[in-house]
Amino acid sequence: MAYAPQIIFIIIFGVTVFYVTKRIREIRKNILLGREVELTGSRSERFKTMVLFALGQKKMFHKPLPAILHLFVYIGFIVINIEMIEIILDGFFGTHRVFATGLGNVYPFFINVFELLAVSVIIGCVIFLIRRNILGLRRFKGEEMRRWPTLDANLILTAEILLMLAFLTMNSTDVVLQQRGAEHYVQTGSFFFSGLLVDFFTNFSNATLIAIERFAWWFHIIGIFAFSMYIFYDSKHLHIFFAFPNTWYSKLTPTGKFSNMPEVTKEVKLMLGVPEEAPAESTEEAPPGRFGAKDVQDLTWKNILDAYSCTECGRCTASCPANMTGKKLSPRKIMMDTRDRAEEIGRNIKTKGTDKANEGAALLDGYITSEELMACTTCQACVEACPVNIDPLDIIMQLRRYKAMEESSTPAAWNAMFSNVETNFAPWKFAPSDRFKWAEKIKNN
Ligand code: SF4
Ligand code: SF4
Repeated sequence: MAYAPQIIFIIIFGVTVFYVTKRIREIRKNILLGREVELTGSRSERFKTMVLFALGQKKMFHKPLPAILHLFVYIGFIVINIEMIEIILDGFFGTHRVFATGLGNVYPFFINVFELLAVSVIIGCVIFLIRRNILGLRRFKGEEMRRWPTLDANLILTAEILLMLAFLTMNSTDVVLQQRGAEHYVQTGSFFFSGLLVDFFTNFSNATLIAIERFAWWFHIIGIFAFSMYIFYDSKHLHIFFAFPNTWYSKLTPTGKFSNMPEVTKEVKLMLGVPEEAPAESTEEAPPGRFGAKDVQDLTWKNILDAYSCTECGRCTASCPANMTGKKLSPRKIMMDTRDRAEEIGRNIKTKGTDKANEGAALLDGYITSEELMACTTCQACVEACPVNIDPLDIIMQLRRYKAMEESSTPAAWNAMFSNVETNFAPWKFAPSDRFKWAEKIKNN
C-alpha cells in the first residue's frame, strides 16, 4: 500500500493528459473547419506583435490599475505552475520537495517568489470578483453574459483563489513539520508569506499537520489538473493559451483595410476598364463557392481561432457605438456565437459524421441576426479595443457580404446606394459628368 498515493497520482495525471489532448485535437479540428487565409507581415513582425500584445498585454495599459492586476494574475498563475514540475515529480516518485536538496539556498528564494505571486493572484482575483459582482461594471453585463458566462468567470476566479490558498497552506504546515524534525519533511529554510501563518499551526499535532499538508498538496495538484480540463472543455479561459497563436496570426495590414474578394475586385476592375485585369488566359478559374459567409465553414480559420481566443472581457462591446446607442449589436456576442456554432458543428460531425443532419442551422440567422449585422457602422472601435487582436468586424463584414450578394436582402437605402455605385461609380445619385457642376457655380460667381 506504500505505493498507493503514487498509483493514484499517475492515474489522475494520465486521465488529465488524455482528456486535455483529446480536447485540443477537437478544438484544432473545429478551427480548421474554416477556409484558408493569406497571412500578412513577416515572421519578425508577427513575433513582435505576439510579445507586445499577448505577453506584454500592451492594449490593457490604457487603464493601468486593472492592467497591472491582470498582469500579476496572469504571470503569477503561469509562473507558479513552474512549481508543478516539482509536484509532478514528487507525485510520480513518492519523493517530497525533490528539488530542495539540489538547489540549496536558491530553493527558498524560488518558493518566496512563487508565494509573492500567489499573494498577488489572490489580491487580483478578489478585486476582479468585486468589480464583477459588486461594482457591476457595464462591460460585464449584456444579453450574452446572462447565466453561464458570468458564472464561469466567477468560478475561475474563485478556483484561482482556492488553489493559491492551498499552496500557501501546504508551505506553511510543511515549515512547521520541518521545525519539528518530522520524518520525510526535508529542511528548506523558511518562506516569507506562508511563514506568516506558522503561528496559527503551532498548536496542532504532527498527525493533524501532516493531514492538512497532504490535503493541501492533493487539493493543489488535483485542482490544477481539474482546472486544465475545465478551461479546455467549457470556459472562456482558453485565452490563457490562445492569446499567443492568435496575436502571432494577427492581421498586420493597415487599420481599416478590408479584405476584398479577388473575384469581385476583378469584376469591378473589368467594369471600370482597368487594362491589366482584362481577361487573358486566366478565365478558367473556378467560381467562388459562395459570396461572403453564411456559416462557420465560410469564414477563415483565423476567424474561428479569434472566437476561441475571446476572453469575453467586453472591451469591444463597451466601445461599440452601435451598442452604446442601444442597438442589438455586441461584437463580443458575435465572437461567442461563432465559437458556439463551431462547437455545434464539431459535435455534429463527431456524433453523426456530418453537419448536414442539422439542416437549416447556420451562424447567420441561427445565431447572429440581420438586425445585429446591419447595426454595425464599421468604425473598427471593437478591433482597436480588443487586447488580443480579435477582429469581430471581419466576421460581420463576411456575413453582411452574404446578405448583400447572395440574398440581396440589404435595407432599401443601401440598395439605392449600391445601384448608384453600379451606374454612377459613386454612392451619390449624380452622373459622373455632373459631379463638378457645383464648382462651375462657384466659378461663375
Ligand atoms: S466596427 Fe461595428 S461592431 Fe465594431 S465597434 Fe464599430 S459598430 Fe461596433
Ligand atoms: S473580442 Fe476581444 S475585446 Fe471583445 S470580448 Fe473578446 S477578448 Fe474582449
